[in-house]
Amino acid sequence: MPTIAMYPGSFDPVTNGHLDIIKRSSRMFDKVIVAVLVNSAKTPLFTVEERVAMLRESCKNIPNVEIDSFNGLTVTFAKQKGATVMVRGLRAVTDFENEIQLAHTNFAMMPEIETVFLATAIKWSYLSSTIVKEAAYYGSDISKFVTPNVEKAVSEKYAQLRERDRKSTRLNSSHRCLSR
Ligand code: ADP
Repeated sequence: MPTIAMYPGSFDPVTNGHLDIIKRSSRMFDKVIVAVLVNSAKTPLFTVEERVAMLRESCKNIPNVEIDSFNGLTVTFAKQKGATVMVRGLRAVTDFENEIQLAHTNFAMMPEIETVFLATAIKWSYLSSTIVKEAAYYGSDISKFVTPNVEKAVSEKYAQLRERDRKSTRLNSSHRCLSR
């Protein structure tokens, strides 16, 4: 029976660190479903559709990878998709506490699904979606950290947000004029 693995996360946006985990797990399992979390406690920069589209483009050359999105419990979605393995990446001890808690909770809820941790490639051990967004926000070059389509999407998103902020400042100042 083919082994299906699920790699869940926010992917806001997908980085080269995530892609390294996806490529390595695609060599370990028959199929890898990269599952984008819709209902994260975090407020994402990108919509779920945008995150899925970026992942599809970034993973287009890896044949046994499928991109999907889900709401609710990861283990429920994994079971629904026939996955028996949950893949997570570990960067540093700081990831460990949260990840082990998640793995134990998932195991308590669905023991037939095993969590497998892959150690990050040292090259990407400092990298996170948050770092990528902060660097881009302050005008740094992020081409070393993400694929070209993601680099473009991030710069377009910040341009849109700056434009929106500029308009709302204009709107607020016109409100201020009216309320004088
Ligand atoms: P979440 O919000 O679930 O943490 P992320 O998109 O931030 O979602 O991360 C998804 C998974 O990828 C997590 O297991 C995380 O530890 C791992 N990960 C994130 N960045 C890297 C990286 N640079 N190298 C290896 N694994 C990573």
